[in-house]
Amino acid sequence: VKGWIVAVATIAWPTFWLVPGFDDDRMIRIVLFSLPMTVALALAAREAWHGCAERLPSRNWLAMLLGAQSVLFGIRIPLGPFAPFPLGILPPNDLVVAGFFGLMIVLSVGQTVLIISMTLEREELRQRKLASTDALTGLLNRHGLETVFEDDRLPKGTALVMFDLDEFKNVNDTYGHAAGDAVLVGFARICRQQMRQIDYAVRLGGEEIAVVLSRVDRAKAVAVAERIRMCQESCVVDVDGLSLKCTVSGGVFFSEMDSPVHVRDALAAADRALYRAKSTGRNRICEELASASGAHVHAGDDRALRTQAAPV
Ligand code: GH3
Ligand code: MG
Ligand code: MG
Repeated sequence: VKGWIVAVATIAWPTFWLVPGFDDDRMIRIVLFSLPMTVALALAAREAWHGCAERLPSRNWLAMLLGAQSVLFGIRIPLGPFAPFPLGILPPNDLVVAGFFGLMIVLSVGQTVLIISMTLEREELRQRKLASTDALTGLLNRHGLETVFEDDRLPKGTALVMFDLDEFKNVNDTYGHAAGDAVLVGFARICRQQMRQIDYAVRLGGEEIAVVLSRVDRAKAVAVAERIRMCQESCVVDVDGLSLKCTVSGGVFFSEMDSPVHVRDALAAADRALYRAKSTGRNRICEELASASGAHVHAGDDRALRTQAAPV
């Protein structure tokens, strides 16, 4: 369809000149030329603006330049009868000629430069994304976590849950590294499914995955962590005809201070809670309180359960 529009537009303009009388009526010429240009440029500006979610700085500027050019063509229609050429049909005026064509050239060159710089920005974004993505799970890697928060600090109302698969070494030792990888990928998928779009899951290394929950309260954070734990508990991974199960433990840190907490401190606090979850039986979520009153335990199973990676 787009090809047809370009073809028709290319052929239409010279064809108009074949129509008798077209040459004489300058106003019709202005309308027939400026109206499609205005519409086309406005559509292009809209298209550029809609892609702004792509977070390329040049994109906003491109949309604005296209919009400005659309307006420049558009005003020729109402101004036509009263303004000197090239804005309207009155005899040309040096100042208007220089201003109009000067502006057109600046806008066109600006658009070309911006389109080139968008290509470069897109490539840089892709490289940066690649550098902050974990190849196995597709989650952010530790480096990626640093790019999530300004100054590496968690604002108030943010939770960081650190998960660690239980007895994961057993899976590797018993069923092989590939089986371990499959279990890890399965857990990463569960984390992704259970969080919202504004949340992040980060593979910290090995079989440790942190989930960062924004705009939550403490109860909500614990509930999400508990939901992820339960999903993992009931998850069965098929590897080479074997069905594997592996539970997970989690430590919750919740930022409730007015001053943002450094990611390093949040990780340390979540790790302390995780350690407690491990030492009190695994397959459970523990919460680290900022106050000295100690951590809360949300046991998934009250028995001091030793979870085993076992075929079911
Ligand atoms: P715990 O319940 O106390 O966490 O026991 P664990 O066996 O999970 O603890 P440990 O930290 O000793 O074992 C982690 C294992 O994770 C060791 C390592 O072989 C394995 N591991 C780390 N990264 C990967 C990976 O990318 N793929 C696989 N398959 N295994 C990994
Ligand atoms: Mg582990
Ligand atoms: Mg570990």
